[in-house]
Amino acid sequence: MKIAVLAVQGAFIEHEKMLAQLGIESFEIRQKKDLEQDFDGLILPGGESTVMGKLLRELELLEPLKEKIQRGLPVLGTCAGLILLAENLSNDDRIYFGTLPVTVKRNAYGRQLGSFFTKAEVKGVGEIPMAFIRAPYIESVGEGAEVIARVDGNIVGVRYGNQIGISFHPEVTDSLALHKYFTAML
Ligand code: GLN
Repeated sequence: MKIAVLAVQGAFIEHEKMLAQLGIESFEIRQKKDLEQDFDGLILPGGESTVMGKLLRELELLEPLKEKIQRGLPVLGTCAGLILLAENLSNDDRIYFGTLPVTVKRNAYGRQLGSFFTKAEVKGVGEIPMAFIRAPYIESVGEGAEVIARVDGNIVGVRYGNQIGISFHPEVTDSLALHKYFTAML
């Protein structure tokens, strides 16, 4: 089993470390030729979605990765990664992969006070620590998308077939549970 981690910007190294702790091989996608090898899953890390989206376009990674996701490649998007997956952003005109039927609000907790730490239940995973960093949340979900986590009434996790989108960062906590859940999907 091999997992690709998008590594054009953001917190990709933390995901690689979590996968290594689980004994799972990973590699970084930085340019088009990295797509020549086969892989079983994809992680889109947190970071700055506008920067990642721009680089995905410029590096000609957006369309080939989108096609793979649409064909069923398991993908985990965390924070900015969720924004990249979203079909719709309520406070931004941009759309990147647009494969996950949800409406996401960027910087939903406010820019300054938007970072906090909590624990909450994720369906199928259990209670896990969650770090929110200038985080988005999911305002609404479309047909077929299942809500898997809520914090203070706001949707912070969703699953739609092969796609998981969460607005928090599991990779900066010491819990491997979400990565285990994701890799069990592969
Ligand atoms: N605020 C960032 C964005 O809109 C996301 C923050 C994060 O990934 N930690 O892209």
